[in-house]
Amino acid sequence: MKSRPFPEVPCVICSKPVDLRADLSADENGKAVHTECYVKRITSPQSGPSIATMAD
Ligand SMILES: [Zn+2]
Repeated sequence: MKSRPFPEVPCVICSKPVDLRADLSADENGKAVHTECYVKRITSPQSGPSIATMAD
């Protein structure tokens, strides 16, 4: 049986578990995120998923 003092919460950005003891961070919606994932997200322009125009 596993007994963790902290439950693993998936990062809403990368879906990997967030270690709440080390990566206690939350986005504007209060969802658990890795600090670096959040920084990447807020520092990269995001047009939104509805606009599927990949300028490549
Ligand atoms: Zn993440």
